[in-house]
Amino acid sequence: MKVAEVIVDVSAYPIDRPFDYLIPEEMQELIEMGCRVKVPFGPRNVLGFVTEIKDTTEVPVDKIKSLSQLLDITPVLTTEMLKLAKWLKTETICYEIDALQVMLPSALRAKYEKQVSLLTDVEQLPILLQPYFQRATKVNYKAFEKDGMLHDLKRAVKDKQLVIENIVKQKGNIKEIRKVKINESIETLQKILGNISKRARKQQQLLQWMMNHVGEVFDLQDILTDTNTSQAVLQAVIEYGGAEFVQEEVYRDPFSKEVKKTISLNLTDEQENALQKITNSIKNRISETFLLHGITGSGKTEVYLQAIEQCLLEGKEAIVLVPEISLTPQMTDRFRSRFGELVAVMHSGLSVGEKYDEWRKIHEGKVKVVVGARSAVFAPFRNVGIFILDEEHESTYKQEDAPRYHARDVAIWRSEYYQCPVILGSATPSLESFARAKKNVYTLLTLKERALKQSLPTVHVVDMRNELKNGNRSMFSESLVEAIRTRLEKKEQMVLFLNRRGYSSFVMCRDCGTVVQCENCDISLTYHRSNEKLKCHYCGYEQRVPKTCPQCQSDHIRYFGTGTQKVEEELTKLFPEAKVLRMDVDTTKTKGSHEEILEAFGKGHADILLGTQMIAKGLDFPNITLVGVLSADTSLHLPDFRSAEKTFQLLTQVSGRAGRHQLPGEVIIQTYTPEHYAIELAKEQQYEPFYEREMWMRHQAGYPPYYYLALVQISHEDIMLASEYAQKTVDFLRSNLSFNVSIIGPTASSISRVQNRYRYQCLIKYKVEPNLIETFIQLIKLYRSDWIKKGILLTVDLNPSSI
Ligand code: ADP
Ligand code: ZN
Ligand code: ZN
Repeated sequence: MKVAEVIVDVSAYPIDRPFDYLIPEEMQELIEMGCRVKVPFGPRNVLGFVTEIKDTTEVPVDKIKSLSQLLDITPVLTTEMLKLAKWLKTETICYEIDALQVMLPSALRAKYEKQVSLLTDVEQLPILLQPYFQRATKVNYKAFEKDGMLHDLKRAVKDKQLVIENIVKQKGNIKEIRKVKINESIETLQKILGNISKRARKQQQLLQWMMNHVGEVFDLQDILTDTNTSQAVLQAVIEYGGAEFVQEEVYRDPFSKEVKKTISLNLTDEQENALQKITNSIKNRISETFLLHGITGSGKTEVYLQAIEQCLLEGKEAIVLVPEISLTPQMTDRFRSRFGELVAVMHSGLSVGEKYDEWRKIHEGKVKVVVGARSAVFAPFRNVGIFILDEEHESTYKQEDAPRYHARDVAIWRSEYYQCPVILGSATPSLESFARAKKNVYTLLTLKERALKQSLPTVHVVDMRNELKNGNRSMFSESLVEAIRTRLEKKEQMVLFLNRRGYSSFVMCRDCGTVVQCENCDISLTYHRSNEKLKCHYCGYEQRVPKTCPQCQSDHIRYFGTGTQKVEEELTKLFPEAKVLRMDVDTTKTKGSHEEILEAFGKGHADILLGTQMIAKGLDFPNITLVGVLSADTSLHLPDFRSAEKTFQLLTQVSGRAGRHQLPGEVIIQTYTPEHYAIELAKEQQYEPFYEREMWMRHQAGYPPYYYLALVQISHEDIMLASEYAQKTVDFLRSNLSFNVSIIGPTASSISRVQNRYRYQCLIKYKVEPNLIETFIQLIKLYRSDWIKKGILLTVDLNPSSI
């Protein structure tokens, strides 16, 4: 008896344990751990993952069901991934099925077709398989789905004669190129040559040429040009059997243009020192985490590139993570220009099919380097030599939905599995990482100078309160206006940054002060000029701007606040001659628009690049000499204990965009609180003093990295039920956790209603609590089924990125 343990995907009613299924006779030789299967579950057939194969089961013989379908012959999940999923499950308190699914491209959950491709000559295949490949080199898998065939298929796959691939068929996405394959037998070609009429000179010539290229494959167009023949002549020779057309599928190419090759630069002493240490741990297989702290422009990326080179020399693979927002073509091009075809990219800008193709290249070992956003940390390589997280302080490395993992933790787990280094790089490391480096948990590597020895830009802080006193009500201070004017005269480029978090345009009644709110959520709607609509950024609800106030019917209703669109308007009024490019969520909705805007700016088609967070990082343009920050304080006043840290990081990052090459840079920061330490120290680009100061604050207030946090959220459509169960949860936690753990709450969440669900939360602060995860598991075990019936949702977020 052969039995598979299967984790099933029943999202409506998640049950977090494997189920046993009998493996039918015909699947027994084919099935492996990590394969996807279809299994009967209740009245339905659902998707599942095989996590174990065994010889016995405790399920009675008359109760056990059989697998209904085997979806993969090559497992989609490696044994490493299966282990990682178990770790994620306890570490982030999630369902195992969520942990398994997060590692795979969505295409593997969608519709696809399986295809079998021939890798050798037909004659070398087992006899039974040969007929399938007489006419084509790619055959739909369905053709083989009968007794016996699958076993032969599997053997041929093992012998590398065939390969089975899952193909996502998406209209317009699969590209096929037509190729011509010359007949493999010289005798056949000679025979044909003897049979054709002497007058068909062109055909004769073509055949003679073919006899020098027996069995070779050419692009259709190349053959025609190389032999100077017409398609009609070739067609005739093909009909005689001298050659055949073959279709070759090419991977969807996520890169729209070629990049120039670059070679390694001569490193500075600081870079060299850092590289040495990293290389040492690659070569000696040491799982060590490095914190590469280097100021903006210090050449961290060059260090990554050369470390990867070492890794490839050792025959290993590299995983590079960059925050989604800085995954600009500029960034990926730097890796492609060094490693060319060996690079795959993974980010949300790719189509489902493209993502799947990139994943397959990694899975099949066709590439060696992946550059991607958070989820690329799961790239299915089998021999990783280095993990790199650029801008390691970015909060986007933490996933907000289950499984609520941090890419840094996953990278470190995997690096222990592969015995290889992890590089965390940043100009402004997270407090957590820097604290660990100070305790020697991570190895600190420092780059104090810019690679090209340029000085850091000069930073001026403008007190906006004085502007107001002097009667300047515009969002541009006099110094900024002056600075922009001189740059326009000198034809130098500028970046204007609007720190827009929590500070977008809203519509308010001037008579009664009512702000138009979302119907489903407890949050004001944001005004979008492009389609004159109000939109909820939490649930997507949209409505027209009301003509009169919904509260008092006054028609003095208008929008307030500073969006990029409004800044752009004011800017063009002040400088009608300036060419402005705007980059924000609205102008980058369509695929490739991000790329287009940056390319236009790089080519000098505009003087000013105006944007949000999106332009804070990764940009490297030589001609930028001015960076203006319109409102430094907006992120400072968010109700989040990390707000000072985030402000400091953001200001340092944007400032780093100026004066990166020959021309010196200037930065102007506008603020209403110039005395705040985050702003003062960002002005000086003083990381360590900021670190010391902020650590002191965190210590006083009992926040990370001195304490750990866990955020528990309970929601329901009925506010009474939500609050009642929040209280129940807190009572349970109080009676099960130790006394030195502080439990704050329950309180209404900062946005107390989202999508019509009322949200309550409690915050747990602790230094050591070995019992924590077990307590949550108990809580979930005790209440889950009852709560699911009642519609209560409970989420636990360990180390939340904000509270
Ligand atoms: P960071 O990633 O630390 O912000 P970059 O890697 O983008 O820094 O480097 C900044 C600039 O310096 C880039 O234009 C890069 O090509 C250049 N650079 C980096 N290292 C060197 C070096 N060793 N020699 C010459 N130029 C370098
Ligand atoms: Zn009103
Ligand atoms: Zn909403």
